[in-house]
Amino acid sequence: MVSLNDVKNAHIEIQDSIHETSILKSELLNEQSGNQVYLKSEHLQKTGSFKIRGATNAVKKAVQNGARFVTAASSGNHGQAVASIANELGVPCIIVVPEDANAAKVAAIKAYKGQVEYCGLISADRIPRAKQLAEENEGIFIPPYDHPHVIAGQGTIGLEVMEQVPDVDIIVVPVGGGGLISGILTAVKNSKPHVKVIGVEPEAANDTYLSLKNKQITSIDSAPTVADGLRTSQPGDLTFPILQEHLDDLLLVTEKQIKEAFQFTVERTKQLIEPSSAAAVAAVLSGELQGAQQKIAVVLSGGNVDLRQVQEFMPD
Ligand SMILES: *Cc1c(COP(=O)(O)O)cnc(C)c1O
Repeated sequence: MVSLNDVKNAHIEIQDSIHETSILKSELLNEQSGNQVYLKSEHLQKTGSFKIRGATNAVKKAVQNGARFVTAASSGNHGQAVASIANELGVPCIIVVPEDANAAKVAAIKAYKGQVEYCGLISADRIPRAKQLAEENEGIFIPPYDHPHVIAGQGTIGLEVMEQVPDVDIIVVPVGGGGLISGILTAVKNSKPHVKVIGVEPEAANDTYLSLKNKQITSIDSAPTVADGLRTSQPGDLTFPILQEHLDDLLLVTEKQIKEAFQFTVERTKQLIEPSSAAAVAAVLSGELQGAQQKIAVVLSGGNVDLRQVQEFMPD
């Protein structure tokens, strides 16, 4: 279980290591959406994504409990976040990445002085290896979402949004494994329960949507979406019950909607966001929320984009 207090404690724990990111506004986005939209700019967060919040809380707590070594199994934003905070704290770390990991992402991990080990092609190979390395070195394995300290760390975004936009009506959050949204739900529903929290998934990676519908964790075989941060096969054992209890709605967006929102955000607001963040923007431009005339905070979850890939993120 994760409580509001855990999130508040996480906020104190991590405050020296993260930015309190600003809220950005765009008149054009307001116009197109028919709402007052507030962009929570985690794409400008340290390491380029919110993942540093959960990683910092988890790694700091592990070190306080005697861990002298950390591992993770991710070539993406979580791997970079764990490498960065381990470096800041002077704790050695190994990030286990797939053999076909993107060179730019591996370079980012190495820039934070993380050691990189290549292992297999799927997470079922990587995770046991990262756990084994942690055990052998009296360390700890930090999962990307299904961990109470990670969830509490991500939830600090909810605390900041409630402070920065005190009369917010709705918070829109992209959903991968559900760490980000379950943390925000914990913060928001235990303090301002009337604020709606709405998740967004790509139609092509609808594992959480199916799990909520089936009332049990349901996995999907593949998640062919441009939003690589949302390509999970199933929600977590810890995150899913929090969603089941508190989530107000889960919207699905198509690849076309994500790409159009990506182009709109980059060209019109000049903010370089990842497709995973664009999924959330797509929701406030979609039929479900358009014209609702509400104050809507949208979590721009990350901005780590390889510029050579941008063409693939654009509508045809
Ligand atoms: C990890 C990630 C997400 C999804 O977060 P979960 O906690 O897995 O739901 C969304 N956007 C970006 C940029 C991410 O890195």
